Amino acid sequence: MSDCIFCRIAAHEIPSKPAYEDDLIYSFYDLDPQAPVHVLIVPKKHIGSLDETTPEDGELLAHMLLKVKEIAASLGLEKGYRVVINTGEDGGQTVHHLHIHLLGKRSMNWPPG
Ligand code: AMP
Ligand code: ZN
Repeated sequence: MSDCIFCRIAAHEIPSKPAYEDDLIYSFYDLDPQAPVHVLIVPKKHIGSLDETTPEDGELLAHMLLKVKEIAASLGLEKGYRVVINTGEDGGQTVHHLHIHLLGKRSMNWPPG
């Protein structure tokens, strides 16, 4: 989608600091980090949110989740990390292109705010 910021970042039309990339996904550093390490992982295909996924997205979603541990290891998150997918208005989603937040290098609180 040409008017979607994360589609444009994944297509390298808008600059970002890369963390990982393959044919299906792109990972880049969040502009407003909420932890010492904070990257986003997005599918190159436009999907508005977790709520808009279909069974056809199953392999892509599995790929995204299975890559998390590799990206986390490459970023030195051996003590652990948190994965967040904000979804919809109450979920705090502000960018309407599915993304995983991967946060680490600090101790996380529970429950989240
Ligand atoms: P969410 O609130 O879950 O939709 O997360 C959107 C995230 O995208 C926020 O953490 C923003 O800081 C981040 N963000 C927005 N624009 C950019 C950008 N151009 N480059 C990197 N991160 C961005
Ligand atoms: Zn998009």
